Amino acid sequence: MRLSELKTGEQGVVVKILGHGAFRKRVIEMGFVRGRIVKVLLDAPLKDPIKYEVLGYAVSLRRAEAEMVEVIKIQEGDETPDIATHHEEPPAVDEHELPSCSHTIAQHEGHTINVALIGNPNCGKTSLYNDLSGAKEHVGNYGGVTVDIKTTTFKYKGYTFVLTDLPGTYSLAAYSPEELYVRRYLRDDNPDVIVNVVDVTNLERNMYLTTELIDMDRSMVIALNMYDEFRNQGSRLDFETLGGMIGVPMLPVVARTGEGIDQLLDTVINVYEGRHSHVRHIHVPLGPDVEGSVRVLVDMIKAQPSIARQFSPRYLAIKFLEGDSEVDRILHSASNYDELVLTRDRLRANIERLTNEDISSTVAAEKYGFIAGALAETMELSPEQKNTSTSFIDAIVTNKLFGFPIFLLIMLFIFWATFSLGQYPMGWIESAVNWLSTLVGRFMPDGVLKDLVADGIIGGVGGVIVFLPNILILYFCISFMEDSGYMARAAFIMDKIMHRIGLHGKSFIPLVMGFGCNVPAIIATRSIESRSSRLITILINPFMSCSARLPLYVLLIGTFFPSHAALVFLALYLLGIVMAVITAKLLRRFFFHKDETPFVMELPPYRMPTLKASVRHTWSKGVQYLKKMGGIILFASIIVWALNYFPRHDDAIPAQNTGNTIDLSRDSYLEAAGKAVNPVMEPLGFGWRSTVAALAGVPAKEIVVSTLGVLYTNDEAFTDASLSQRLTAPNASGRPDFTPASAIAFMVFILLYCPCMATVTAIVRETGHWGYGAFSIVYNTLVAWLAALAAYQLFDILL
Ligand code: GDP
Ligand code: MG
Repeated sequence: MRLSELKTGEQGVVVKILGHGAFRKRVIEMGFVRGRIVKVLLDAPLKDPIKYEVLGYAVSLRRAEAEMVEVIKIQEGDETPDIATHHEEPPAVDEHELPSCSHTIAQHEGHTINVALIGNPNCGKTSLYNDLSGAKEHVGNYGGVTVDIKTTTFKYKGYTFVLTDLPGTYSLAAYSPEELYVRRYLRDDNPDVIVNVVDVTNLERNMYLTTELIDMDRSMVIALNMYDEFRNQGSRLDFETLGGMIGVPMLPVVARTGEGIDQLLDTVINVYEGRHSHVRHIHVPLGPDVEGSVRVLVDMIKAQPSIARQFSPRYLAIKFLEGDSEVDRILHSASNYDELVLTRDRLRANIERLTNEDISSTVAAEKYGFIAGALAETMELSPEQKNTSTSFIDAIVTNKLFGFPIFLLIMLFIFWATFSLGQYPMGWIESAVNWLSTLVGRFMPDGVLKDLVADGIIGGVGGVIVFLPNILILYFCISFMEDSGYMARAAFIMDKIMHRIGLHGKSFIPLVMGFGCNVPAIIATRSIESRSSRLITILINPFMSCSARLPLYVLLIGTFFPSHAALVFLALYLLGIVMAVITAKLLRRFFFHKDETPFVMELPPYRMPTLKASVRHTWSKGVQYLKKMGGIILFASIIVWALNYFPRHDDAIPAQNTGNTIDLSRDSYLEAAGKAVNPVMEPLGFGWRSTVAALAGVPAKEIVVSTLGVLYTNDEAFTDASLSQRLTAPNASGRPDFTPASAIAFMVFILLYCPCMATVTAIVRETGHWGYGAFSIVYNTLVAWLAALAAYQLFDILL
């Protein structure tokens, strides 16, 4: 708990001081060090400040300051348990004065270390996070994979680590949403130790962020990741000297194999305990012109303790000088804000006149100059450090002529693998489902329960679960594309087309991710800086055919077009893309104004994906799919079954007795509803069952197939037939429900219509407005209807 939560008369043992730099130092100087007992003497009339007693003398703290002190409450006269510590005692600030029992307890409880991973996109943060915690977060070889923060807890040498994986950032300016996000995280969550992950093969650029973290004056350790590649190139780095130079311990690690992880954790503990010899606060020099101005502003900010607590005054001063809007907002509450602004403007004008360039460039140039100087003394790059295999592959896959055909071939291969390779395991699961169905038929007594299990549950869930292998294969392929670095190239070659439709190459990655699932894809648009581009990318994402729609394709394509499967797949996916492109163009034209953001996406070197990461990712998707089967799909199947099962003939009789002339005995509720809506869908070649399946698929698109499974089990004559045989069997009117043309129309409709509820929710959440969700529902359904109509009319003639 925090010191501010203790009430008058209560006591606590200090566990740790949050915050940073000057504030932290001052509170520690006042005697609030770990293990000390603090007693609340009294609250001031307005509850602020509060008077405390620390080992014999009284001090007063503002409530806000007391919030930065973490304590454990103790009762007066308590027997404090004597718990032995697991590690050697730190020679920390004057702790020899401590009474031993309170000391031990604070040591024990204070074992929690909050660690945040911060670094550029694609430097291996998530890999490191997975290594450290055994988690299974998704890694990808391009920027912007992690858009949410993830937290995990693990134990190491008696300490509890709370580890947070943050989105990648190049700096801590208020330029992109991620940068703001990371910065707010640093301010509000105050991690004890920052692990700055850097890609050592790209040290110069990666260290720019490091200089900003140094400005912030936080406890920090640098993990030199990708050391394996660096070593293999034959380059060398004297990281001991470099670390000493910048006052931050540095360690080589290989996140991919786990090399160096223990040493990293040991160093984090040492930094946390304040016993690492390298740790000191340096100022990254900004040149005489800027330094003088920064000093003036620092002094003015220091006069405002409530503000200086959020970030170090030096960091605030530099950012304020650069005109950072968020820092401006922070400083707004300062009593000398007007004076600050005047001073800042005067100083900045002066610097810009002297240097003849804008202040941000001057600061960046000075920082890079500092980095270059430090690296010149410590790093020896091998002359042939250029990654030759990467440039060779790039010459082919981003080639003007071959780039697109290769992309299409890769997609075609993926669909072929998804369909053809998937057939074998699919057959096995199918037989298992059939076997289960026979078993139920033989051993369960006839009645409603048997019908529910056989038709509702096995027919519904069993009908969808057979597609698990296809979905796993698709995810495996996507994961391979992402992790190898090809995805970034796909975005690169698409940039031109994306520009034509008023978007950015970066928008392409969320679109391809949409092939897996639209929900994370929509979240991934957070890496797009421009608001209008982001909105458009979100709105067109549902046209990307997600894996939930795959079962329907496999079912219908397997039934009607088995010999051209991969091509039909590709055509469907391309149709989705074309609709997305048209929609994007229309949106840009009529709703959003043009905006140009420069294409600043990195093209990381190709890396062979580790089998472990790919399998892990695929596996987690499989688990997700199975969970969905046991949840919403099961639930929906039962509902659909019940609506289709009732009213029974005997239920219908009383209705007739009361003089009601409508004969309910033939139509179930579902059939009646389906037939009522069906006139709208008839031009598309839909029977009432297809209409019902499409309606039922609104919560989640897998339900389309599970509903077909339930609706087509009722025929007594077909107990042993597969679902695809039942779809092509003649119905009451003597014709089959599905023809090749109506199958295509149905797939087109399901591809394009109203996004599933999870996607609509994601759209509303990410855009911040329900109107966009409503737009998606209406617009997509309309588009779907028109496209399915065109498809049906066309193919009814052709096929
Ligand atoms: P993040 O964007 O910082 O979270 O980075 P990721 O953890 O997603 O990793 C980016 C890419 O770098 C992936 O392709 C990883 O497989 C690869 N990678 C991560 N750590 C290492 C490493 O130590 N050595 C090598 N060779 N590759 C790595
Ligand atoms: Mg990541």
